[in-house]
Amino acid sequence: MEILKTKSAMQQWSKEKKRLLRSIGFVPTMGFLHQGHVSLMEKAKTLCDEVVLSIFVNPTQFGPTEDLDAYPSDLENDLNLARKAGVTAVFLPTKDHVYPQNFQTKIELEHLPEFLCGKFRPVHFGGVATVVTKLFNIVMPDVAVFGQKDYQQLQIIRQLTLDLDFDIKIVAGDIVREKDGLAMSSRNSYLSQAQRKSAISLFKSMDMAKVLIQAGETDPQAIGKKMETFIHGFDETTVEYISFCDPVTLEDMENLDRKFLLALAVRVGTTRLIDNCLMDPLQ
Ligand code: AMP
Repeated sequence: MEILKTKSAMQQWSKEKKRLLRSIGFVPTMGFLHQGHVSLMEKAKTLCDEVVLSIFVNPTQFGPTEDLDAYPSDLENDLNLARKAGVTAVFLPTKDHVYPQNFQTKIELEHLPEFLCGKFRPVHFGGVATVVTKLFNIVMPDVAVFGQKDYQQLQIIRQLTLDLDFDIKIVAGDIVREKDGLAMSSRNSYLSQAQRKSAISLFKSMDMAKVLIQAGETDPQAIGKKMETFIHGFDETTVEYISFCDPVTLEDMENLDRKFLLALAVRVGTTRLIDNCLMDPLQ
């Protein structure tokens, strides 16, 4: 497994693999890897000859009051997990290298960032879209794998790939969960033991919604209210949003009469957790 720290070294590596007709799968991350990331690397490995993992805590996708400086890292463990998952190159650039002085270009999408997390994190998706565009140009993958855990991000990447004519296949990876249902996240490490117990409220509330939908409830407001009351029954929880929306446009749905995305964000203490699931009331 090669470790590449500069854009030119990464590009050279990819050009050489392309010359040898080796396909390249790509998994961008911010590190502090867990089994969710591992599942994406393994998926890329089944689809491509080579797998590139990038680890870069991208400053432009954090708001001024967010956790950029506190973001956890454990490079040694990350490299071990990557090696075991079959990664063949790790791209580890520094902030100054990705954003040199006088950097001034931004990629912004018009509509998708207006919904869900984008309402509460105004700079986030511009930062994500910009860094992913740069990473695509540097790594030049054939396939890029993103987790459905960050559903809005996945939709935004699909859209920008289409809009900017990247010849890259975007593949989605299922959400990997802890035994009790909590979606794995690097940010779960911020939770105290008591908060960890409250964190399960996200998954349990989605289960509750499923039961209501199976019983014939089609009003998202009614289900959302019940979910919110349920979640607020757990200590230190504050619901940021609960949304029932179209899985492609992310626009709110008024009646749950077709396939939809249920997505939510909840603060447990100061830690912001997100989760989602696709549901089809017709099935
Ligand atoms: P991050 O390091 O949080 O930026 O995430 C890197 C990639 O891993 C993104 O595509 C995420 O959607 C994905 N990811 C994060 N958590 C999970 C999870 N629990 N299951 C599957 N994929 C995940």
